[in-house]
Amino acid sequence: MAHDTEILLLGNQKGGVGKTTNAVHLAAAFGAQGKRVLLWDFDANQGTTAHLGCDGATFLGCAEVLGGLEDVRDIIIRPEDGVELPEGVHLITASPSLERVEGPAARRNLARALADLQGAYDLIILDTAPNLTAPTVEAYRAADWFVLSAVPDPFAFVGLRRAMDALRVSMERGSARGRLLGVILSAVTPGGPKARRPKLEAELLDYARARLDARRGAPVLFQTRIARTAMIPRAQMEGRTLLQTRPKHKVSGQYKELAKEITRRIARLRRPPRS
Ligand code: ADP
Ligand code: MG
Repeated sequence: MAHDTEILLLGNQKGGVGKTTNAVHLAAAFGAQGKRVLLWDFDANQGTTAHLGCDGATFLGCAEVLGGLEDVRDIIIRPEDGVELPEGVHLITASPSLERVEGPAARRNLARALADLQGAYDLIILDTAPNLTAPTVEAYRAADWFVLSAVPDPFAFVGLRRAMDALRVSMERGSARGRLLGVILSAVTPGGPKARRPKLEAELLDYARARLDARRGAPVLFQTRIARTAMIPRAQMEGRTLLQTRPKHKVSGQYKELAKEITRRIARLRRPPRS
């Protein structure tokens, strides 16, 4: 039952819904729990790359691997390369040259790269572009699990519903073999269950619970929510995660809890059905 490497993809939606922040902070949370994590940036806008303080233009990365120009093992950024990374996390950078990568080559080269990495990591986390660029389409094809992101904003929820429909269609057509693992709700108003929430936010939460969970017949929202905090953009400006700048911050704890919830959900879904 032991799966050597789980491939988790964050994406399938418009920009600005927390995909990159969630990808990077989850990588850091899994790393802090002793997992070996590879964070792989597929977005030409280099959100993940910049979040970890790197400039994609100065590194070989995703574009060179997908283009068949480099062996994936040669371009992975590790702490030995003089880049400060969260504990347990390695990185593959993105750059604008990803826009020139073509689909068929990307498919072949990504499959080879993932085969070469099999067993070297417990988790490979893919951060993708909000639009269906060739690299992002191939990332979809390769992923085991899809994790969607939402912030309490009406447009984010419309996007989320579309994303869930699009995923179902790709799965039915066989262009994605992965499964939807769940939806992360982040940048919510901080505070406990009794905190005064803006009315709209409360309504959106109810809507999400009622509609999304019902559609699937199982909980789709992760129970752990990520609160909004200015410490996140502040850490991003320094090229670090909150787990590095404020390991004891409440939101660092939320990401660690979310990582555990993800591990439990994967274990449950991997369990063979009882006959
Ligand atoms: P995407 O990858 O979907 O485009 P990002 O992760 O880049 O989204 O997030 C969009 C913006 O929201 C960023 O400016 C980020 O700093 C901010 N953000 C994300 N999560 C939080 C949070 N929990 N608290 C405050 N700001 C956040
Ligand atoms: Mg992003």
